Amino acid sequence: MIIANWKANGDIKSNKAWCNQLIVRMSNRGLKSIGIAPSFIHFNQIKNAFINNDIKVGFQDIDIDGGARTGSISPSMAVDSDCSFCLIGHSERREIFNEDNNIISKKYKMLVKSHIKPVLCIGESFEEFKAGKTEQKLQTQIQECIQGNISSENLTIAYEPIWAIGSGNTPKPKDVNTIHEFIKDVVQSASENNLRPQVLYGGSVNKSNAADFFVEKNIDGALIGGASLDADIFSDIIEIYSRHKEK
Ligand code: PEP
Repeated sequence: MIIANWKANGDIKSNKAWCNQLIVRMSNRGLKSIGIAPSFIHFNQIKNAFINNDIKVGFQDIDIDGGARTGSISPSMAVDSDCSFCLIGHSERREIFNEDNNIISKKYKMLVKSHIKPVLCIGESFEEFKAGKTEQKLQTQIQECIQGNISSENLTIAYEPIWAIGSGNTPKPKDVNTIHEFIKDVVQSASENNLRPQVLYGGSVNKSNAADFFVEKNIDGALIGGASLDADIFSDIIEIYSRHKEK
């Protein structure tokens, strides 16, 4: 799957042009295996733009409950909006909004309960990467966020090294492949039903490096920030994904 994470970008006019362009570019392939996570305010616009297509539209985040929580979007609102998936644990949420594994685990549980696919983002800092602590960090994040509670067939993990997000720097695709295998093993051994999750890579994916990632066996797709804001570039990346993963 390829997921566009629009973060706090987009407006009604440019979103409309983006959706139209994607539909034109994907007219032969169709919109399967594509997800878009727009802002909450644009969710319905994007959902309606793809009403006759099988594109998945999701949230970038969710709160753990409803009611007296000013400014929040609750899990039941996500269900009501027909949200297909929800990112949780993105490093920007962890850093800017002080979210820790404990709060992310509550979000994870609420999504599972609500039958919305969680896309759990994990990743190490540059210091941890340099110190060879990547696997240790990822294992802790997985265990603390899902707490052995893998009842969802639909868990997807997005491996996003913090230092690769929006920086133009990326780890070597072969190293990412090894890390993804490790992530699948960690999840599988915590899973009641032997689940091996889909693992997406995120961090400065663009149309020039996408093929190097998608050629790797354990890289099941990508979570894309900056390069997803341009419908043509995003379409180019989807075409590269199709060539490598849908043969
Ligand atoms: C992201 O923020 O999830 C991301 C992958 O961003 P970028 O593609 O811009 O590095």
